[in-house]
This record gives sequence, structure tokens and C-alpha cells, in this order.
Amino acid sequence: MKHRLYIISGPSGVGKGTLVKLLLKEDESLALSVSCTTRKPREGEKDGVDYFFLTKEEFLKRVEEDGFLEYDEHFGNYYGTPKSFVREQMKEKSVILEIDVVGALNVRNRCGEEFSPVLILVIPPDEETLVKRLEGRASEDENALRERLARAKYELSLKDKYDYVVVNDDLGATVKRLHEIILAENAK
Ligand code: 5GP
Repeated sequence: MKHRLYIISGPSGVGKGTLVKLLLKEDESLALSVSCTTRKPREGEKDGVDYFFLTKEEFLKRVEEDGFLEYDEHFGNYYGTPKSFVREQMKEKSVILEIDVVGALNVRNRCGEEFSPVLILVIPPDEETLVKRLEGRASEDENALRERLARAKYELSLKDKYDYVVVNDDLGATVKRLHEIILAENAK
């Protein structure tokens, strides 16, 4: 059985985080990729668990050394997927990477040859469900909600670029479907 890199993307509010947690619980032969960031740790966050926390200088040095599968800037901080960490993990396990659509396509374009990632897009059953889920997040004001919806529509418009598109209509069934995809791809 081969170890593969699985990239799971989907609009915010679609339930990716929960799905990935359940998937890792279900199958111990899967590992989660840990990203690097230049933002400061939040309370309770641990280095090497939630993120690898780097200084801006350390991060940019790694960029120069081609040390990231992909990286991006969000809210004034850098975030990236470390190649060496993913490589090490893949010696033992298949690796799950949860990043946005742009990041996922960057990995395929920049490092497709070495990592040959399987791209999986998780989508909501319909727009109404997505809006409800986004509204359920207490922190969202009207503008943030509109922005996230526009972003979600953009992400959904790229679905043809994905290897698999999975509708998250029922948490248990969706985890099962994701696991089936992983088992089938690992067996190829
Ligand atoms: P936070 O600071 O709230 O943990 O994350 C901020 C944003 O950075 C989120 O949208 C998250 O998905 C994104 N992010 C986290 N890790 C990575 C990464 O390795 N690569 C990219 N491109 N984005 C990331």
C-alpha cells in the first residue's frame, strides 16, 4: 500500500475541520500535516501541534530554500505547508492537508511530480445550507458573511479541477465516503 497526500478543501462553514478530525479518529494510518506560520501563537496553541511558529526571517529563508509545498499570506502573516514535514510523515502514513482551493491547486502545479496529491473538494448540499451554517457562527457580521459567501462561490466554481467532489449532507456518511476514497487511492 502506498502513502499518498490528500488535500481537503472546501468553503468555510462546510464542516471540513470536523470531517478531518473524524477521519483521523477512524483511521490511525492517517496523519495531519502541520503548517508553518509567522503569526503569534494563540492561548493554548502548541508549537509543532497547531502550527510550527516561525519568525518572518525564518519563514522567508525557507521560502528561498524551496521548503514549502505552497505558502500564502493571510491577514498580514505568512502560512505555508512544510515539505520536509510532509515528506517525513509520508514515509509512515498517508497525509491529510486541509488548505484552501488556491493552496491546493498551487501544490499540484508546483510539486505535483514529487507529491502527486489527490484533491478532494467538500461542498455543501446547497447554498441555503451553507448560509445557515455561516450564520450559525456567532462571530460573523453582515459584511464578513457576504465576503465568505462570495469566497465560497468562487471555490465552488473551481470544482472541475478536483479529483473528487464530496457533498457533505450527513457527517457520518461523508466521513465514510472520504475514507473509501482514501482506501481506494492508497490501493492503486
Ligand atoms: P489562523 O491564523 O486562523 O489559524 O489561519 C488563518 C488562515 O490561514 C486560514 O484561512 C487557514 O486556512 C490558512 N492557513 C493555515 N495554514 C495554511 C497553509 O499551510 N497554507 C495556506 N495557504 N493557508 C493556510
